[in-house]
Amino acid sequence: MIIHMSKDATPDNERIVLDRITTRGFNYQIIHGSTGIDVIGVLGDLSGVEESYFAELDGVDKVVRISKPYKMVSREFSAATRLIRVGDVSVGAHEFVCMAGPCSLETESQIMMIAGYVAGMGIKIMRGGAYKPRTSPYSFQGMGLEGLKLLARARERFGLKIVTEATGLHRHVLENGTVEKRTVLENVLEYADIVQVGARNMKSYGFLQELAILTKDKKTPILLKRGDSSTIRDFLLAAEYLVANGNPNVILCLRGIRTFEEEKFQRYTPDIGAIAVLKKESNLPVIFDPSHSTGYRANVYPVSMAAAAAGADGLLIETHNDPSNALCDGEQSVNREQLLAIANDCCRLRDLFYSSIEGNAR
Ligand code: PEP
Ligand code: MN
Repeated sequence: MIIHMSKDATPDNERIVLDRITTRGFNYQIIHGSTGIDVIGVLGDLSGVEESYFAELDGVDKVVRISKPYKMVSREFSAATRLIRVGDVSVGAHEFVCMAGPCSLETESQIMMIAGYVAGMGIKIMRGGAYKPRTSPYSFQGMGLEGLKLLARARERFGLKIVTEATGLHRHVLENGTVEKRTVLENVLEYADIVQVGARNMKSYGFLQELAILTKDKKTPILLKRGDSSTIRDFLLAAEYLVANGNPNVILCLRGIRTFEEEKFQRYTPDIGAIAVLKKESNLPVIFDPSHSTGYRANVYPVSMAAAAAGADGLLIETHNDPSNALCDGEQSVNREQLLAIANDCCRLRDLFYSSIEGNAR
């Protein structure tokens, strides 16, 4: 159930509403709307509670029962898309936001070279995994903390923001057997501007909870990837875990799903149609990963364009200065020229998309 406070509600009015919520044993989450008016999400099994129980209180404008299983991430909760601010970039606004960088951070020179060309083409957010969730325990697991420090140096040098994955609550083991002092999540939280939750962790509910609790005060943006075999409902409920536990700054990222498709053609199946569904069902911004969803460099441009045309708010895209020698996902990494073409052409498509929406509204 959602309680919309009226614009002249006093702090006392709000306190009385919150008391009534907790007296009945429910939890709540306050979302500060862009208009400055608070919206209170009441959490719990509200099947036996009438709307009037809250609507009669002073300072309450309206009470809305959300029929969907996901509540605060739903369009019913907020008709406006939630804007996620990362420095001077807003994800979910008119701007098409490209986040680009290598699958995994490898060396200082690789990181600086890629950061240099990414920033040079006007891309403001760099991706790069210091911790890699690999299917095989024998594959390169990532540079760990050392990689995060280099990424932070690239951020300083090129004025970028960084998105990097937290793979869990464990401590990372380096190739030489050294165990890092702090957990992966603690390290990532110290450096990331956006914390990425990978497809494999979308259903790690304890991890989602812990991440939301640890970011509750700073509200660090979280990029949540769809699990490769998860339904849209599961995906939105995973996002709800983050919001219900205190961090509403969630960006949804589609990255392809498992179907009967053969891997020699497509690593996963790009779930382009889900962009339109998520836009309708949810108030969160939606970006698309054309790299993991296709698995092959040649398909990254057309699928990126399809995602932009379908209304995605941006891309998470893998690029490498020397894709054929990349330690991870080289086959799906685009080079500098291909990245530039994608960034430029997708932005132009986005503009077209917006002008046609405005045109239709007229
Ligand atoms: C990644 O983006 O580097 C990654 C591992 O992606 P996913 O979680 O979608 O497999
Ligand atoms: Mn990858």
